[in-house]
Amino acid sequence: MTVLFPGSFDPFTLGHEDIVRRALKLFSKVVIAVGYNIDKKYMLTSESRAQLIKDLFKDEKRVEVIIYDGLTVDICREKGITSILRGVRSIRDFEYETSIDIINRTLYPEIETIILLTDPEYAPISSSVVREIVFHGGCVKKFMPEGISLEDYL
Ligand code: ADP
Repeated sequence: MTVLFPGSFDPFTLGHEDIVRRALKLFSKVVIAVGYNIDKKYMLTSESRAQLIKDLFKDEKRVEVIIYDGLTVDICREKGITSILRGVRSIRDFEYETSIDIINRTLYPEIETIILLTDPEYAPISSSVVREIVFHGGCVKKFMPEGISLEDYL
């Protein structure tokens, strides 16, 4: 079964990587869908965000990376996918994911959201914290997947 993991991934962090690697034990394929919203300001272009993830999973044939700009449920319908993967770090994340899940199931009743709880080690890591550190010239190596240098994608 294939699951779609949608997100901004600006940038993809160790926390995202952990969710994908754990999902690979549950699903035969993970499609990582890099969202593009014209009204949102990103640190990395959608191509760079996708390239970083492709480079990270270059040896994992069960991971596919796509860029999309519409509704998550529409891309799922298009690809015949009925499971969405999301990660949760806190009660706040949980509340947000609950509301999105209800909206998604209203739009596409066949869809189910699978939530994986963060590993406590990665709970404090977020793309926004990484962006903040980059903005102030700090080192983000410890928050990024091994072998990935964010500078290569900026
Ligand atoms: P979005 O803008 O759609 O929230 P993100 O790239 O910020 O996209 O996150 C994508 C998904 O990954 C979300 O479900 C988010 O909760 C989850 N996530 C982000 N960081 C972590 C982490 N450190 N541990 C577990 N899940 C995470």
